[in-house]
Amino acid sequence: MSASYDVVIIGGGHNGLVAACYLAKAGKSVVILEKEESLGGATVSQQVFPEFQARLSRYSYLVSLLPQKIIDDLGLSFETLGRDVASYTPEVDGGLFVSSDWNTQTQESFAALTGSDSEFSSWKSFYNEVLHFAQVVAPTMLGPLPTRSELRTAVSHPIWDALIEKPIGEVIEERFKNDLVRGVVLTDGLIGTFANAHDFAANRCFLYHLVGNSTGEWRVPKGGMGHLVKELTNKATSLGVTFKTSAEVTGISPERVVTCSDRRSYTGQYILANCAPQVLAKLMGTPVPESLEGSQVKINMLLHKLPRLKSGVDPRQGFAGTFHFDERYSDLQKAYAQSAAGIVPDVVPAEMYCHTLTDRSILSPELVDAGYHTLTLFGIHTPAALFDKDNEGTKKEITARLLRQLNTYLLDPIEECLAKNSDGTLCIEVKSPLDLEESISLPRGNIFHKDLSFPFREDGTPPSWGVETTHPNIFICGAGAVRGGGVSGIPGHNAAMAVLEG
Ligand SMILES: Cc1cc2nc3c(=O)[nH]c(=O)nc-3n(C[C@H](O)[C@H](O)[C@H](O)COP(=O)(O)OP(=O)(O)OC[C@H]3O[C@@H](n4cnc5c(N)ncnc54)[C@H](O)[C@@H]3O)c2cc1C
Repeated sequence: MSASYDVVIIGGGHNGLVAACYLAKAGKSVVILEKEESLGGATVSQQVFPEFQARLSRYSYLVSLLPQKIIDDLGLSFETLGRDVASYTPEVDGGLFVSSDWNTQTQESFAALTGSDSEFSSWKSFYNEVLHFAQVVAPTMLGPLPTRSELRTAVSHPIWDALIEKPIGEVIEERFKNDLVRGVVLTDGLIGTFANAHDFAANRCFLYHLVGNSTGEWRVPKGGMGHLVKELTNKATSLGVTFKTSAEVTGISPERVVTCSDRRSYTGQYILANCAPQVLAKLMGTPVPESLEGSQVKINMLLHKLPRLKSGVDPRQGFAGTFHFDERYSDLQKAYAQSAAGIVPDVVPAEMYCHTLTDRSILSPELVDAGYHTLTLFGIHTPAALFDKDNEGTKKEITARLLRQLNTYLLDPIEECLAKNSDGTLCIEVKSPLDLEESISLPRGNIFHKDLSFPFREDGTPPSWGVETTHPNIFICGAGAVRGGGVSGIPGHNAAMAVLEG
């Protein structure tokens, strides 16, 4: 006997929860089937180091793409905090400082690094054009997909060609001269995306990093990423959504009967897949879509003090925004070429974030008083294939390389700043793409489930919410939908709308 619901949702990530809330609000009966013991997928806060009361955003950590409309529609008590510092990229002497409002310190930093004002002027004009693009594109994200022509007409500016029609690498090379500045710009095209600067996969990734909420600003989730899931879970519960955890879906029949590992089954008038499209295809027995594999190492750290910088910049400023290191354009291109050839890059480009300089609420009062901080490091161009032979060995090698690279910019070696467990081990956790597949079912560790897509449909294709599959009553409600990647709730909302329209 199988239990019947209007909608069966496979996966309890934040997008599954968003879809469930909208559908339950509209009067639908909804069940969420989640493989893991707890909800949240890549959007969780956890006490990663059991001896310390610090709840780290274990996977995703910053929010830009989640539209305020979803927070308002669902009445969520979820706030994100802005940062005065956008980024700092150290050199042993100096580096590049960028404030969120491009203040005089930013101008002086560009001038000191590049020897003139021209790179700063290029920066301002490029990002102002990108802002125009964001202001047109972001409001379309919660509606049916516009066509390419409709969106191009709405943007009606040469920035369309720069972001959509030309490889982003070509645009960066045209508009910026300095290797470090070029690298800082390019990194937004490479987060979780294993691509050469001249590959359009980098354009798509760049775009999703610059359009969120019409500003592209990346903000700190107050209370950590898990707070979003807590709010969504409370809302879904109050709306009558049923949850089944430790319930791995193992098959879907054409009659929409969903079977779980415990042999229970659920029939839905509609099925929404919050799991990756590759997982859905296996469950339905249809061809598995091709996708790039994940290409990042994620390192979570707890520190008893912030390290001082050799450049002399105050660490409270240096680590307050995105801290890039070894992400020069040439570093990025070389690391890509080496990894593509199956070699661990000599220099692994990386960036870091410190949640606790903006929001201390994720630490216990004792840790706050003692001056503890969290740091999360995202190393790029380290694709899953590098780890296939020896996951643990490759992780060790890459971690050692990253910490050595980082230490070239620090006065206090990072190892001396890391908190220690009672057995003397350091509070550092490393996740390879293979670990992400193992722990949260991201295919080959792809943080966006599969390759990102441009936020439009081609002219002449049928109307779409970007969530459809080959089956008329089965929709994708997770990161793998068109306009899906990141912490956004957008595909959850759009899949719910597709159901309600049907
Ligand atoms: C290390 C890392 C860092 C990131 N950083 C950021 C960031 O800072 N900002 C940002 O916006 N984005 C970031 N992302 C991307 C973002 O987290 C994801 O794109 C987003 O969380 C995906 O949400 P989702 O709900 O669509 O899917 P998921 O969070 O992946 O949830 C899918 C759920 O489906 C479940 N599931 C899978 N298969 C089955 C099955 N067979 N049966 C039942 N359940 C199943 C999974 O267990 C999981 O809970 C990051 C991702 C990672 C991994």
